[in-house]
Amino acid sequence: NLVPVGRALISVSDKTGLIEFARGLAAQGVELISTGGTAATLRGAGLKVRDVSEVTGFPEMMDGRVKTLHPMVHGALLALRDDDEHLLAMAAHGIEPIDLLVVNLYPFEATVAKGADYATCIENIDIGGPAMIRAAAKNHKFVSVVTDPEDYAALMAELQAHDGATTLAFRKKLALTAYSRTAAYDAAVSGWMAGAVGEPTPRRRAFAGTLAQSLRYGENPHQGAAFYTDGSRRPGVATAEQHQGKELSYNNINDTDAAFELVAEFDPAHGPACAIIKHANPCGVARGASLAEAYQRAFDCDRTSAFGGIIALNMTLDGATAAKITEIFTEVVIAPEADEDARAIFATKKNLRLLTTGALPDPRAAGLAFRQVAGGFLVQDRDNGHIGRDDLKVVTKRAPSEAEIRDLLFAWNVAKHVKSNAIVYVKDQATVGVGAGQMSRVDSTRIAARKAQDMAEALGLSAPLTRGSVVASDAFFPFADGLLTAAEAGATAIIQPGGSMRDDEVIRAADEAGLAMVFTGQRHFRH
Ligand code: 5GP
Repeated sequence: NLVPVGRALISVSDKTGLIEFARGLAAQGVELISTGGTAATLRGAGLKVRDVSEVTGFPEMMDGRVKTLHPMVHGALLALRDDDEHLLAMAAHGIEPIDLLVVNLYPFEATVAKGADYATCIENIDIGGPAMIRAAAKNHKFVSVVTDPEDYAALMAELQAHDGATTLAFRKKLALTAYSRTAAYDAAVSGWMAGAVGEPTPRRRAFAGTLAQSLRYGENPHQGAAFYTDGSRRPGVATAEQHQGKELSYNNINDTDAAFELVAEFDPAHGPACAIIKHANPCGVARGASLAEAYQRAFDCDRTSAFGGIIALNMTLDGATAAKITEIFTEVVIAPEADEDARAIFATKKNLRLLTTGALPDPRAAGLAFRQVAGGFLVQDRDNGHIGRDDLKVVTKRAPSEAEIRDLLFAWNVAKHVKSNAIVYVKDQATVGVGAGQMSRVDSTRIAARKAQDMAEALGLSAPLTRGSVVASDAFFPFADGLLTAAEAGATAIIQPGGSMRDDEVIRAADEAGLAMVFTGQRHFRH
């Protein structure tokens, strides 16, 4: 299964490492064929190259749209060297076999990310490159195909280990990488077109990601895992720079994402905010006069759960906040930036990971969310729903006060990020109780109130933290019981979507308990 490499076609947009690699090939006696720009680079470095136009007998034409799309190239890549008919065809047409294809594609994803105009994006859709990659990968029985400069070293090592040849096992791996690349490339084109034609919904487009990182394991140690980016460059854990601490795990990435997406709901123009996450649910979210105060207030919602949590901040991490954070064990801190004081303080905590993103993501931006089911996966638009004070419909006799409205909207933004059934108690722009993931809404209401009670006792307070709070429910109260539980805990106002068959009954109960209640007309299930 060893195939010696005698002839290589090199056609690359990303010329990283090209010259050194081509020199290595030439030193092994490999003949080089190249397209225009690549050939010019190689000649500039003093290497001997044949132009692909000499091989095809056609000039490169139409702004490079047609360079390698020719039987002299595709026959050379696709011919089976152990098939008499294929060999006869090669001989009849003077086709010389190509044993190694080195291609990386027009930078379509980078062009889109730069915000290029429609025509420029179209011109950056590579046609000949993917055609050659797919041909060479199909013929991996004989042909090696390299699509990533990162694999140049591995190929050179392979040639050196096998006297200028490659093994079938190695070529198969290269073929797998090659098909992953062309699939991701076309998925990127499909995703861009979906946006460009005004159909950003998941109904027509294809999906693929780019491998960003192999992970040590998945949710549990016996599960393999990897992290893929989707090309959207949405600021967050996928784009973050990690300043210290060991590599993020699968669970860290999941929780860090949940934390940063949540804190991004809180516009830094209105002041600092902090979210602390455990197992993808918030155990405390707060605003404060300073970032350090926001952290302290978030921490005070549930100090027990916050241990070993993940913290997200909506503005630059400063020294005062960093010092407070290091008082307990924290897995990850993510923020748009971190100042020098903060970095110096964190540097003393080797295990604490610090991530900065340069920006907050836009919570209202469109995007996609995936969920796997047996035999397939579900795709939906990400939940970018947003409720402002003008969307609120007062349904009770009493209208909420200004302070209550502010807290209701705060609670609503948090509830959006809590697993259903979600109940969130908020007082003075800080959560005081979070009930997550229960199968009945009344249980979430009770659990959140009980946790707030426990926390008040731990803090040595006489009154439960829920007294004078407001409550958000991610979906309607199907019965009055949940709402009455909240009232008993001392809540004074409720925000919920409304829309239950028993809305009348629930509104009546709210009026009897003296609660103010607003309907949003929009729900935030998160299962
Ligand atoms: P060069 O810089 O060598 O002129 O061009 C290299 C790029 O051209 C590579 O990214 C390769 O994938 C792409 N390419 C090679 N053949 C063709 C072709 O026939 N049509 C198009 N559109 N691109 C090609």
